[in-house]
Amino acid sequence: MNEQLKLLIDLQAIDTIIINSKTKINSIPQKITEFDAPLKAAQTSLDKLQQQFSATDKKKKDKDQEIDELKQKVSKLKTRSSEIKNNKEYQAHLKEIENAEKSLKTAEEAASAITGSLESISKDINVCKESVKTEEGKISSIKEELNKEAAEAEQELKVVIDKRRVLVKQIEKSTYDLYMGILKTKRGLAVVNTSNELCHGCNMHIPPQMFVEIKSNSEIIHCPQCRRILYFRDNSDNS
Ligand SMILES: [Zn+2]
Repeated sequence: MNEQLKLLIDLQAIDTIIINSKTKINSIPQKITEFDAPLKAAQTSLDKLQQQFSATDKKKKDKDQEIDELKQKVSKLKTRSSEIKNNKEYQAHLKEIENAEKSLKTAEEAASAITGSLESISKDINVCKESVKTEEGKISSIKEELNKEAAEAEQELKVVIDKRRVLVKQIEKSTYDLYMGILKTKRGLAVVNTSNELCHGCNMHIPPQMFVEIKSNSEIIHCPQCRRILYFRDNSDNS
């Protein structure tokens, strides 16, 4: 086999590993963001519940103040009862007490309903806090796993890049430049195997005479359509 062609085949194998490795490393932050989503959702729910609790608690305090005021009103009205002489005025006074007591009762019922709501929100908050805790635990172990994967991939990448450096030194500059030009424009695939007179890069049919030349692996031959460098290895596993 042509020595330069052999080196290019090896270089392509290394570059494929590098490209896949970089893709893997670059996908990790996105993966972490995706795994973060359930935690963010749980935290948002918790925030909403806590806001709801504060608003309801404020309502409860206002209602309690209203109750205090109504109690004072009833009490004042009752102390004034002995001062009233006129019967008509007295009837009106009793009516006023009755109305104030009614308002007090309504306010007390409302306060009790608000207390019920507060208890219910409180329970929901506790449930939500638990799920935040669970999600935090999950994401923390996932993050640890993914960061470990990234570190391992970085390490592997370093080793492969070192191998590449050694290999590139053996390749003639013009051949290397040719390879790099194709690699950049052909999405990381510059050197491809052929079989059954087909280019494995673009699936174009290779003219029979050219295929005979490719099979000899004695020179660098480009696919007439995609310009990739072609070689022949009679092994379908390494196509
Ligand atoms: Zn092709």
